[in-house]
Amino acid sequence: MDDIVFPPRVELAQRPTPLTPLRRLQAQTGGPLIWLKRDDMSGCTLSGNKVRKLEFILARAIDEGCGAVITCGGLQSNHCRATALAAAQLGLQCHLILRGLQPRGTAPVGNLLLDELAGASIGFHSLKEYFSERDRLFDAQVERYRERGIKALAIPTGGSDGVGAWGYIGAYQELLNDFQQHRISPRYIVTATGSGGTQAGLTLGAAFNQNRHEIIGINVCDDEAYFVKKIGEDIRQWQALYGNKLNSKPDAFSINIIDGYVGEGYAKAGPEIFQTIRNLARLEGVVLDPVYTGKAFTGLLKEIDSGRFAVQSDIVFIHTGGVFGLFPYAEQL
Ligand SMILES: *Cc1c(COP(=O)(O)O)cnc(C)c1O
Repeated sequence: MDDIVFPPRVELAQRPTPLTPLRRLQAQTGGPLIWLKRDDMSGCTLSGNKVRKLEFILARAIDEGCGAVITCGGLQSNHCRATALAAAQLGLQCHLILRGLQPRGTAPVGNLLLDELAGASIGFHSLKEYFSERDRLFDAQVERYRERGIKALAIPTGGSDGVGAWGYIGAYQELLNDFQQHRISPRYIVTATGSGGTQAGLTLGAAFNQNRHEIIGINVCDDEAYFVKKIGEDIRQWQALYGNKLNSKPDAFSINIIDGYVGEGYAKAGPEIFQTIRNLARLEGVVLDPVYTGKAFTGLLKEIDSGRFAVQSDIVFIHTGGVFGLFPYAEQL
């Protein structure tokens, strides 16, 4: 896949991120060795997986003459925080369409605090309004910028689309180098899946490499059918945009989702997940978050227990970040 020509990107992420083995965890579980791809170290405030996607999305925004970006997500969206800070770094304006009402009587915390610091303009919307009127909310913001003579790019949830998919095609390529350097050949690459773009990129990367690695998403919301469809759409959009400019052809894709760990819903975490977070922090000095990585990692450990993975095969888990989303859960920790 070395002959894949990447589209323009703006350098925002600290790359390559480290790949580190969790040896004390292995001693504790007696299971296969899990390696963490530390994408939580892709930046300090840009920490996490979204910055890899934004490198391509924002390069395109600038190429197209945009002076502003608009995106959406939950109140504690990592994607919105990364977009707001990256936009500020590039001198772009940013508007966030957030799901949830402005916290009253308490100061903003976590990602929301950083959104405000980065100078993003923020619209707070009830769940009902967010889900039924999102397109209209985007259109209204595009129009608001247009009236001021500014072209704005609307970025979908999580930056998961055909352009953002490049971020994890790049990360997959980086992983191939990591494997060579560490002289390992893991068979599985596991990630938390929330809007699908990380898995779409990894899946494309693997398809260019004869599917030598099994890419597995553990969904933290929705269900398997939803993500098979959504990731398929991102991949098809990527193919429509870039497919005819490729020298090599990808193999057939396989979209693998392990469903069953959503629990009560998106951003709802039970005591087990907090237990995983606490355990890993003490044992390895690695901090997961309750919304994505803690939930998916808890799922991974259970799947290992139930024999889903070949015991002798190393597993890579992408640490997709999310540390700022931990703070609003202080009481439950
Ligand atoms: C967004 C996010 C994910 C999920 O990635 P998607 O590409 O949206 O599926 C996982 N972990 C963290 C910390 C995230 O912020």
